[in-house]
Amino acid sequence: MPIGIHVSISGSIDKAVDRAKELGCTTFQIFTRNPRGWKFSDLKEEDTKNFRKKLASSDLVSPLDHMPYLPNLATPEGQIYKQSVHILTAELKRSAALGIPYVVAHVGSHKGKGIAYGIKRVTDACNMALKEADNNSMILLEITAGTKNSVGSTFEHLRQIIDGIRANSRVGVCFDTCHAFAAGYDISRKEGVQRTIKLLDEIIGLERVNAVHANDSKGPLGSGLDRHEHIGLGYIGEKGFRELFSHKHFKDLPMVLETPIDGRRDDVGNIKKLKQICS
Ligand SMILES: [Zn+2]
Ligand SMILES: [Zn+2]
Repeated sequence: MPIGIHVSISGSIDKAVDRAKELGCTTFQIFTRNPRGWKFSDLKEEDTKNFRKKLASSDLVSPLDHMPYLPNLATPEGQIYKQSVHILTAELKRSAALGIPYVVAHVGSHKGKGIAYGIKRVTDACNMALKEADNNSMILLEITAGTKNSVGSTFEHLRQIIDGIRANSRVGVCFDTCHAFAAGYDISRKEGVQRTIKLLDEIIGLERVNAVHANDSKGPLGSGLDRHEHIGLGYIGEKGFRELFSHKHFKDLPMVLETPIDGRRDDVGNIKKLKQICS
């Protein structure tokens, strides 16, 4: 089971591979540029080459490229929408250049315009970006925590978006455990896990679930709170993770931690904990 963490690209992007290796990861996630701004510069050719070389000679598999924070693919605001589509397109191109198969995208907020509007907006955005970035990179729609006005907090939302995407083989889902739990899917108990997996399979299809964000939840079931906790120390708990990750579909998926670093535990501690749970 590939397990990893979100690592920094500070210095140059290829250093992310070194960091993932040092932490004992078998997969990892990056932002390909500063996630807090709209502006970005092109990847340097030499850095890209080094990244690919280091990745190829490592044991790391199926890395993830996470979209920056500012884009909102469901927004009704014209200028922000245009920029968001531009950035999604750019990330699909950048990930292909780096040899990263997946771009993880937050589905976004419709800002009060309604779910149907938001779903249509995200679908159109994905269609435009996938057409413009004509390569093999896939968009993984990340399930959201169900915060007010957010699109993508139910399997049905994700299904509707997938149905509207023309390049259908280039779209999948990133299952964030914290978000799913906060959105109301009870993966803390055996029956809840079984029910969630059944729904996931019936509505989305397990073959569409290509990656996992493994985070425990600071907020209770259905709280809509997107607040990540150390593995086993939140409301999902060790039992929930053990139940979920013992399912055969989850065994080969890249699992990336986006857990906090504080006095209780660091990245190495969470990787160790997750490995122990999954073994
Ligand atoms: Zn996530
Ligand atoms: Zn989150």
